[in-house]
Formats: sequence, structure tokens, C-alpha cells
Amino acid sequence: MGRNDVYTTRACKSCNQLFNITYGEKAFYESKGMNLPTHCEQHRGQVRASIPLRSAPPPPPRPSQPRYTPPPSPAKSSGCLIAALPILGIPVVLIAAICFAIFR
Ligand SMILES: [Zn+2]
Repeated sequence: MGRNDVYTTRACKSCNQLFNITYGEKAFYESKGMNLPTHCEQHRGQVRASIPLRSAPPPPPRPSQPRYTPPPSPAKSSGCLIAALPILGIPVVLIAAICFAIFR
């Protein structure tokens, strides 16, 4: 029984075309622990292409967008703002300018 002798003939599940499975192929698929092909040579390639090989590593997960964390505002400026809040009627810009002048 040579490897090229036909073991069985099957009909392609895609095109119904008959194709042969040789003893060599049978041995090959069995050695891989795979079922015998159910598609002709042509459609087997397409099926194979659509199924990722088990040995291939899965694609790495897309890195999630780094979450933007605003830098912590200096304590002195926030403290200054809080201290300046009771001062009514002064624009915030002016308060900021005063804070900047004081703490520089
Ligand atoms: Zn086919």
C-alpha cells in the first residue's frame, strides 16, 4: 500500500467535486490529529486560510488608549485659589496673577 494509493474519495463540501485522499495524506492528517479533509484541494486552501492555525499565536490585544491623567495641580496654587475665593469682585485671571506673583 503506497502513500500515493487512494485511500478514499470524497466530495468537496464547497463544490461537490470528488477528490482523492491518499494513504499518505491520511497518515499525514492522522499524525496531526486532524480529521480528513472535507474539501477539494482548491477549497481546502480557502478553508485553511480562513481558519487561523492553532500554533499561531493570537494577535496581541490592541493596547488600550492610555488614560489621560491630568498632572496634579500644585498644592500651593489650589490653596491660593481657595484663599482668594472669598475676595469678591476680582476676576479669576487677576487672582491667578496675584497668586503667581506671591508664590513665585
Ligand atoms: Zn471544492
